Amino acid sequence: MSVLEARELYRFFHSGEEEVKALRGVDLTVAAGEMIALVGPSGSGKSTLLHCLAGLDEPDGGAVYVMGQPMSRQSEIIKTKFRAKYFGVMRQKDNLISHLSVAENLLMVQVLAPQPNSSHQKNILDRIGIGKRANSLPAQLSGGELARAGLAVAMVCHPKILLLDEPTGEVDSETEADILNLLSDFQIDGGAIVIATHNAAAAKRASRVITMKDGKISND
Ligand code: ADP
Ligand code: MG
Repeated sequence: MSVLEARELYRFFHSGEEEVKALRGVDLTVAAGEMIALVGPSGSGKSTLLHCLAGLDEPDGGAVYVMGQPMSRQSEIIKTKFRAKYFGVMRQKDNLISHLSVAENLLMVQVLAPQPNSSHQKNILDRIGIGKRANSLPAQLSGGELARAGLAVAMVCHPKILLLDEPTGEVDSETEADILNLLSDFQIDGGAIVIATHNAAAAKRASRVITMKDGKISND
């Protein structure tokens, strides 16, 4: 069964007279245990697609289904419940609340999206390689540590689906390798991943690579 499905997604943005067609009829089905890499040039619609899949943005046409249930055009409360129950989301930036420490950021997710099998904070931070930074504020972290902390926030409640927007975008090669290994383990355990990436190593690990171009899935 698909854990996540997008049917005929359209998303338009307006700036002045101009209309940007960020998504133009995107269909996507994601199965458990699958890692899908979204690749394509900047502006091709990868982030917009991830935001619509996460229920953080609402498509203008089409719909997103999570575990077979419609999520699009539901109330914010219902979408929030879907996210809390099924998703771990990592955006391109700003994944942490700036005035809370790394550990407090994790606690926040655990309180808002309680799951019976939620990880012990120390375990996940050690596993992600920033156990020593638990009490640091986001501003005190390096780029690589910020990415690790953002991933810890996305993974702490053991989501079924990870939606990641360029998680290895600005990290050192050691962080990149650690992140990709964690994602492989998550996938082996049956989790589904959709990752927007420019990273060849990430795309190589994916079970499917989907190329976006001008708001569509390109079959070239
Ligand atoms: P990618 O992640 O592949 O770089 P995006 O999904 O960010 O692409 O952007 C797709 C298109 O939609 C781009 O032309 C971008 O400028 C536009 N766009 C994205 N978000 C907005 C927004 N909030 N307002 C206006 N235009 C947007
Ligand atoms: Mg993007």
